[in-house]
Amino acid sequence: LFDESEDKEENLEPRSPVIVVMGHVDHGKTSLLDRIRKTDVAAGEAGGITQHIGAYRVKVNGRPITFLDTPGHAAFTSMRARGAKITDIAILVVAADDGIMPQTIEAINHAKAAEIPIIVAVNKIDKENADPDRVLQQLTEHGLVPEEWGGETIVCKISAKQGIGIENLLEMVLLTADMQELKANPNRQAKGAVIEAKLDRGRGPVATVLVQNGTLHAGDTVIAGKAVGRVRVMTDERGRKLENAGPSVPVEIIGLGEVPDAGDIFYAVDNERMARELVEQRKEKEKEERNKAMQK
Ligand code: GDP
Repeated sequence: LFDESEDKEENLEPRSPVIVVMGHVDHGKTSLLDRIRKTDVAAGEAGGITQHIGAYRVKVNGRPITFLDTPGHAAFTSMRARGAKITDIAILVVAADDGIMPQTIEAINHAKAAEIPIIVAVNKIDKENADPDRVLQQLTEHGLVPEEWGGETIVCKISAKQGIGIENLLEMVLLTADMQELKANPNRQAKGAVIEAKLDRGRGPVATVLVQNGTLHAGDTVIAGKAVGRVRVMTDERGRKLENAGPSVPVEIIGLGEVPDAGDIFYAVDNERMARELVEQRKEKEKEERNKAMQK
C-alpha cells in the first residue's frame, strides 16, 4: 500500500527547513512567532497570513522557512513519541531578564534527544533588567557554548515585542539549514505528519499536515493514523487554495473521514479500498489492545 522505497540521490532536491520554537512559559515564544509572521507581511507577500493552520511559511531573502505555529513542547513531544521527526532546527527562546528556567532545560533535552541543532534567541533585550551575559553563562553551564565565547551555539539577541534582531535570527536559521543540506524528492507520493487536527462544525475533520517527502495533490487519497479520505480542499496559511504541496510545505486539508492525532504519519495512497481496510485493521487492533489492558 505504501511506497516506502529509499530515494535515489539523483532524485533529491533541496527543501526548506522546518523550525520549532521552544522555551519556558512567558519567555516570548508566541510573541516571536507573531513577529515573524509580520516580518513576512512587511516583505510584501500578497494577502498576509490570514488564518492559524498550525504551521506557516515565511520568506527570508527569497527563501522559504516553515515554522510550526504551536509554541511549547507538547506538540513536539507527542510527535516524537509517535516517531515523527518533523523539525530540522529548534529556536530556543530564553528571556534575558529571567534566564534559564526548568522548561528551558527540558527544551534543550528534547532538542538534543531529537538531534536537531539549537539556535538560542535571547529575548526581551529591550527590558531594563535584561541581562544577556548571564544567559550566556547559564547556556554554557548547560553545554551550549555561545559562538562569541568560542563555542558552536548561535545566540541571537532579540526583542520579539519591539522587533529587534528578528531578521538576523532568521538569517541564522537559513545559515544553519544550509549546513544540514536538507533534501527531499518532490516527485513521488506524499508522506508527512499531522501537525494538528480538529473537528470543524461546518467542514468536518480539518487537519494541518506537513508534507515531508513527495508532493500532495488535491484529490489524493490519504491515510493518517485511523483516518482516511480524499483531499477535497487544500489551503495554505493565507487561505489560498493549492493544487499541489511539495516537501516542507504545511497545508490544511479537508476530506478525511475522521480526526487524526497530532503526530500521526500520513501517506498518499493509490488504493482507497486498501487504505480503508488498513484503517479498519488499525481500529480493530486498538480495540483488542484496549480489551487486553482492561482484563489486566
Ligand atoms: P510564551 O508563553 O513563551 O508564548 O510567551 P508570550 O509570547 O506569551 O510572552 C509572554 C509575555 O512577555 C507577554 O506579556 C509578552 O508581551 C511579553 N514579551 C514577549 N516578548 C517580549 C519582548 O521582547 N520584550 C518585552 N518587554 N516583553 C516581551
